[in-house]
Amino acid sequence: MDKLFFTDEHEMLVDMVKDFAKNEVEPRAREMDETGEFPHDLVKQMGELGLMGIPVPEKYGGAGMDNVAYAAAVMELAKADASVAITMAAHTSLGTMPIVLAGSEEQKQKYVPKLASGEMLGAFGLTEPGAGSDAGNTKTTAVRDGDSYTVNGSKIFITNSGVAGLMNITARIIEDGKDKGIGAFIVSTDTPGLKIMPKEKKMGWRASDTRELFFDGMRVPAQNAIGSTSGGFKTFLKTLTGGRISVAALAVGTAIGAYERALKYSTEREAFGKHIHQFQSVGFKLADMATRIEAAKLLVFHAAWLRDRGKNVIKEAAMAKLFASEVAMDVTTDAIQIHGGYGYVKEYDVERYFRDAKVLEIGEGTSEIQRLIIKREIIKEITSL
Ligand SMILES: Cc1cc2nc3c(=O)[nH]c(=O)nc-3n(C[C@H](O)[C@H](O)[C@H](O)COP(=O)(O)OP(=O)(O)OC[C@H]3O[C@@H](n4cnc5c(N)ncnc54)[C@H](O)[C@@H]3O)c2cc1C
Repeated sequence: MDKLFFTDEHEMLVDMVKDFAKNEVEPRAREMDETGEFPHDLVKQMGELGLMGIPVPEKYGGAGMDNVAYAAAVMELAKADASVAITMAAHTSLGTMPIVLAGSEEQKQKYVPKLASGEMLGAFGLTEPGAGSDAGNTKTTAVRDGDSYTVNGSKIFITNSGVAGLMNITARIIEDGKDKGIGAFIVSTDTPGLKIMPKEKKMGWRASDTRELFFDGMRVPAQNAIGSTSGGFKTFLKTLTGGRISVAALAVGTAIGAYERALKYSTEREAFGKHIHQFQSVGFKLADMATRIEAAKLLVFHAAWLRDRGKNVIKEAAMAKLFASEVAMDVTTDAIQIHGGYGYVKEYDVERYFRDAKVLEIGEGTSEIQRLIIKREIIKEITSL
């Protein structure tokens, strides 16, 4: 199926990422999960391999590849370890692409080469304690004061925020006492007034760096606004569409990692004198897992392929994210079932894939929100006929 979407260049990239994931990432995955330590050295290696800026134009130091390539790379990393995959995906889709898509030429030249090379990590701060799904309820304010903005408020669950050099944040813009809507800003992580809290202790994605942030009178130069100040929120929403395809790819990788382990185990484990795949209930589970993974993969690459052709993929990205994340949850659950008691302990790794899968139904828009988006788009299609 990959042949449908892959060129020789894609194949070469996938081979390279596969090697890196197998030799460098996979042997460390269990330890990273247990210690929760952020893998700085692996991120450095990914930068050297050109994996920290796959869809970034060459002009700004990226690999200049397309969204199919980027999704394929995320998928390969996630087969080995979801924390490493989300570090790269959040950095690329959310930390870097808003600047590439809507930044000024000056911002692109100043920040993007450092991000694309992996010299600096990027993060993205949209979610607030009272504004997750309801992002329009953003309470953080940026009050215009001469040639800068004074930012007050907070963000929560921000991936890469403790290890990033830069983050793109959203805030409600107040100018001359008037609310101008939600905008986006580039914030250097050494800005006075930015307080980065200790790393969250999570169920999965344990080596990934997730934190709460506080802004206390943080001054941000007006030239750091991304796009027109009031258009910043739209930029962020566009960013989320791309981010959803990468999270969907991550979900497929997570599902494949668990499925491959279950498949192998089913050919080794014996019960009642047979390999367990010979029991129809186990064999049919494996057949369903393989089929659903293939379907999710098609949705992911189709959405990426359409995006590469300049199509509006709001619906396709939401469908890919919704379906792939639910496939990841179901497949990792079945992988544990196939392992029996051994699936519940750490020895066979499937419990890690299961814990890593759950957040895929939550981050970058919950499954409920994806359904709302899909419903909105399909109704729009028929009412505009
Ligand atoms: C590990 C991790 C990493 C993350 N990384 C980032 C990041 O880098 N940057 C960032 O900005 N955010 C990040 N997030 C935040 C994530 O995007 C939000 O948690 C998510 O959007 C849900 O928001 P919430 O947690 O406030 O839940 P809520 O919005 O409070 O939702 C609670 C429940 O209500 C449901 N619900 C809410 N509204 C509706 C509705 N209208 N219709 C139907 N159901 C509804 C939801 O689907 C959910 O089941 C991360 C989260 C996690 C856990």
